[in-house]
Amino acid sequence: MKKKGLSIIAITLAAVMMLTACGNYSTKTEQVTESTAETESSEDVIVASEAESEASESVEEPSTEIASTEESSTEEASTEAASTEESSTEESSTEAASTEASTEDTIVTGGHIVVLDPGHQRQGDSAKEPNGPGSSTMKARVTGGTTGRTTGVHEYELTLDIGLQLRDELEGRGYTVYMTRETHDVNISNKERAEFAAEKNADIVVRIHANGSESSSTNGALALAPSSSNPYVANLASESQRLSKAVLNAYCDATGMKNLGVQANDTMTGINWCTMPVTIIEMGFMTNAGDDTNMQDATYQAKMVQGMANGIDAYFN
Ligand SMILES: [Zn+2]
Repeated sequence: MKKKGLSIIAITLAAVMMLTACGNYSTKTEQVTESTAETESSEDVIVASEAESEASESVEEPSTEIASTEESSTEEASTEAASTEESSTEESSTEAASTEASTEDTIVTGGHIVVLDPGHQRQGDSAKEPNGPGSSTMKARVTGGTTGRTTGVHEYELTLDIGLQLRDELEGRGYTVYMTRETHDVNISNKERAEFAAEKNADIVVRIHANGSESSSTNGALALAPSSSNPYVANLASESQRLSKAVLNAYCDATGMKNLGVQANDTMTGINWCTMPVTIIEMGFMTNAGDDTNMQDATYQAKMVQGMANGIDAYFN
């Protein structure tokens, strides 16, 4: 009898725990409507001041006209373009996103395979690898990334910090998630990160980065996707752009981060070797005091993670 009583208690406990765990799934899926920021963002496309990214390695970038198909941006040449927009330090309110979010039905996601690539690693590796399949352009395997000018936090630390939180959030929403790295002490090139995603049969790759600029006033988030004239992955352009928009817009809605739009980029090794839709999200400028400080704030980070997860949900729905 005693034994039976105990096992009934154990079974009841297990059932309660399962219910609690399952309960999380449905409550978390807030859908953010896709269209909100889309109109503005496609207009004011500003070329990244990609000071830190892989692109900085490139001596000669063959394709300078990439953006022309999608954007009419005449201002794309100037890296400083962003600074003219700068006057607004006010972040558009986070409230906007949450009020409209609740009207949508909760859609159960899951079944999709997501590879998250937290950008960079503790030590860069300047050995070269081809910029794309068959390319004679050689670029550094992986760079060290930028550093928070105010917080002193390294980009590789921020990207993993957010990446791990995003993994947990996505797993909670039913996705299968693979990380290209879970520690700082790795040596995985950008090409190898793309190959990892192929091995995992990923549906999408989300590459997590933060930006740097000469100008400390430059702030805001942007996303990078291949253009339809990319020599390697033109076939992935439209889906990658759709993914980029979904993630960036939901991210900016959730955080209030300034939305600098989706930019075409055909010079990133980690994009050019991809075999599935890919986005690079540049979450903010670590060289800007406001962005840098916000991105180290736990409450703000939770919004960053929710926003990106909402964007991934929006892409798949
Ligand atoms: Zn980066």
